[in-house]
Amino acid sequence: MKIMTVSEMLKKNYGEKVYRLSLSSGCTCPNRDGTKGFGGCIFCSEGGSGEFGSEPIDLDLQIMEAKKLISKKTDAKKFIAYFQSYTNTYGDPHRLKELYMRAISREEIVILDIGTRPDCLGDDMLDMLKELNSIKPVWVELGLQTANDITAGRINRGYPLSVFDRTYKALKEIDIDVIAHVILGLPGETKEDMLNTVRHLANLDPVLDGIKIHMLQILKNTALAKEYKEDPFEIMTLEEYGTLLIECLKILDHNTVIHRMTGDGPKNLLIEPKWCADKKNVLNTLNRMILMA
Ligand code: SF4
Repeated sequence: MKIMTVSEMLKKNYGEKVYRLSLSSGCTCPNRDGTKGFGGCIFCSEGGSGEFGSEPIDLDLQIMEAKKLISKKTDAKKFIAYFQSYTNTYGDPHRLKELYMRAISREEIVILDIGTRPDCLGDDMLDMLKELNSIKPVWVELGLQTANDITAGRINRGYPLSVFDRTYKALKEIDIDVIAHVILGLPGETKEDMLNTVRHLANLDPVLDGIKIHMLQILKNTALAKEYKEDPFEIMTLEEYGTLLIECLKILDHNTVIHRMTGDGPKNLLIEPKWCADKKNVLNTLNRMILMA
């Protein structure tokens, strides 16, 4: 089976490789500080689901450091300013606008990519995104994880599916590319629940721009790790995950770009699934399975 990966899409659109620079906006998360909830999503580690973001130091310094890090493996000239950790539309709109403007004013930054929660995109943030999007393309990544509100409660996500749907519409009305995050293997979910999440995304109108699909990772010092220790649940093997992933990919519209097919959690915190630690093997196996599907 043939899928459109993000690297293929970027190469097609920009004529060369484009790399993500993981940056920090200095935002925190309202699902941790009590504004929307306490304790955060049960799988989320202290790093806020983005262990590779730099510390919130000066943006130009962060960009320089991030470029230095990836210069060992590439001589890329075009980059995506990727604000991954925590909730990057949760903060003072003026400060954030200034920060994101600074990012996109750099010639080598061709896309602004902002990870956030759908309940943190009020009118002020939507206006900001619209303005930024008129200068350079803006992607917004929304951590949905599941379309099942019972699971959403169980993982302490802190908002119902209707909020995701409403925000999706609002973002598409201002022409922002939306990338949804999905986790396969959440506790209590059946295969049908997981496929239903992907079906929900596949039925969005207009068509979803991109998706990141992850295997659930149990990381040390999380509520999920505690839950797993007290009441272990079944973890998919790599082959089981691959088979389910292919079913998900078959449901999606062929215009939805696949941004990720596996998690990127820190190895030193990983409890399960152990096979996630060997990312190269995971990707090789998944790519082989997809090719043969
Ligand atoms: S996953 Fe995102 S929304 Fe959930 S607690 Fe972590 S940073 Fe907050």
